[in-house]
Amino acid sequence: MGYWTEHQRTIMRPQKFTPRADYRLAESLRAKASITLSEKFCELKALTVEFAYFNPEGVTRNSAIKYTVNPDHAKSVFRLDCMNSECVGGDFDLSKTIAQAVTERQTTTSGEMCCQGWLSKTTIDRVHCHNLLRYKLTIEYGTRVPVATPQLQAV
Ligand SMILES: [Zn+2]
Repeated sequence: MGYWTEHQRTIMRPQKFTPRADYRLAESLRAKASITLSEKFCELKALTVEFAYFNPEGVTRNSAIKYTVNPDHAKSVFRLDCMNSECVGGDFDLSKTIAQAVTERQTTTSGEMCCQGWLSKTTIDRVHCHNLLRYKLTIEYGTRVPVATPQLQAV
């Protein structure tokens, strides 16, 4: 009881022994099972993600990382791992942020997310992780040319 927050309970079953590994596994399976970004957003042509990690006091922990995602391969459940190697049940899920940006046809969006996991498996239900992710998304829109279009037009 009280082992997982309500949010976490909805996405995985509680397991006592390896909460961190179990959570990561469940999350990676959820991402793998999701459709690709281009399946979800046919008008999405390219997505560039820039992000940096900060500790709860806002002190930077690494240099910014920037990479471009291929919407044909990237999954629509888009997650970045928390940099706290002991974090349980947290990480950063940018799926909703991307969905909202695309829906609103934004070409750039940036923001900050706070990890809602636990600081470590010994502080579950007591101390939150609260590491920060600051991100910037750059999105290109357009009609992508399909790799192969079968000529199966109905008459
Ligand atoms: Zn965390």
